Amino acid sequence: MNIKDIHNCYGCGLCATACNRKIIEIRLNPDGFYEPHITDDASCTNCGVCTDVCAYLHDDLSLTSPQISGYAAWSKEPAVRRKCSSGGIGFELGRYLIGEGYKVCGVKYNVDNQRAEHYIATTVEELIPSIGSKYIQSYTVDGFKAINKKEKYLVTGTPCQIDSFRRYVQKFRVEDNFVLMDFFCHGVPSMWVWKKYLQMVEKTTGKATYVSWRNKFTGWHDSWAMSIDGERTGEKVNWHNSYNLLIKEKKGTYNSRLSQGDVFYKLFLGDYCCNPACQKECKYKYRASSADIRIGDLWGKTYKDNEDGVSAAVAFTPKGNEILKSLNCTLVEHPFDTVAEGQMKKNCGKAYLTTVAMKLLHFSHEVNANVWRSLFIVEKLLRLPKRIFNKIKRTISK
Ligand SMILES: Cc1cc2nc3c(=O)[nH]c(=O)nc-3n(C[C@H](O)[C@H](O)[C@H](O)COP(=O)(O)OP(=O)(O)OC[C@H]3O[C@@H](n4cnc5c(N)ncnc54)[C@H](O)[C@@H]3O)c2cc1C
Repeated sequence: MNIKDIHNCYGCGLCATACNRKIIEIRLNPDGFYEPHITDDASCTNCGVCTDVCAYLHDDLSLTSPQISGYAAWSKEPAVRRKCSSGGIGFELGRYLIGEGYKVCGVKYNVDNQRAEHYIATTVEELIPSIGSKYIQSYTVDGFKAINKKEKYLVTGTPCQIDSFRRYVQKFRVEDNFVLMDFFCHGVPSMWVWKKYLQMVEKTTGKATYVSWRNKFTGWHDSWAMSIDGERTGEKVNWHNSYNLLIKEKKGTYNSRLSQGDVFYKLFLGDYCCNPACQKECKYKYRASSADIRIGDLWGKTYKDNEDGVSAAVAFTPKGNEILKSLNCTLVEHPFDTVAEGQMKKNCGKAYLTTVAMKLLHFSHEVNANVWRSLFIVEKLLRLPKRIFNKIKRTISK
């Protein structure tokens, strides 16, 4: 009747949010993923609320009979589109709903705690730090606990966080107060990857004061790029005050792109260190969601020449569809398969050298970029026979 024996779960934090005895904490496990812990077993009344709201423990999704409408979308405001990861639909959704009397529970990066965290924005200015994807697992508990269930909120998060969140608002019969948004999700990397990466970068920048995971300096299709300012970065700018500022590369900022072999992105997107729950237990790929609205990058043939950024926007409920049509965005309706082209249909996998990568993250004090680069070369060699075999198979089947 409680989550005592749950380990390696999604780490969504809804059990800790819902527990009225306040005896559940969310902590990083030895592999660097969030999971729940009961701090005072004797005080547990076995009420079952924590297990009821837990998406990890249920096979079915909390949203039944979705009605799907798919769109390509982008903000009508060029500065918003430039700053956001894809077309800026995430920000426009928050901005519109704030105007309609909602509050927004989104994710910002906390430089002091070195982690992504859910928080509440009540004004458009407060919404700005939620712009842009932070490709690490967010710590949800403080943000979720700050929600007043009697008020109206937009809640954004990974699909598993949102599935648990819908269970939570269904349990407390307040579903109508909430609009829920998730995104097409690759999976989340271990927090140890992030901490080791920061350690490496901070040697040049000093303690990080600003972090951004995506930028379109060289176009949207090459926008997997880390930009990090630190104490030693010359010009000090409060980036969070305006979305107009980050429009060109700034001197002194650490800039590193996936296309140039960025170590964080190689480890994350190469599946060296994905959460085992994302690999084995994710039930939210492609069209499976419990959100009202799902967003993402509209990769794929239709917008392959667009370098400003196009968001994929999918409504799963009539409420979500109505809201999408009201945003300050250009919307172009497409079949779902066009909107979701390029998205993963299966869960993230495991690299051949995952175990080695995780050991390096565990045991060494500091991991130098050259060690990671050697690991990537060995992985590439190990993958070679399979790639050749698949190429031959494709040629024969043609
Ligand atoms: C871990 C992760 C994996 C992703 N995988 C994919 C993928 O496989 N395919 C794809 O198309 N898109 C993926 N995305 C989403 C994508 O990066 C963009 O968020 C999306 O294209 C929307 O961009 P935007 O410009 O409209 O909004 P943005 O301004 O980028 O809006 C970002 C929204 O996401 C929320 N958010 C940011 N970071 C986190 C986080 N760590 N946890 C929870 N919520 C967060 C913010 O609160 C905000 O509402 C992923 C995002 C994350 C965080």
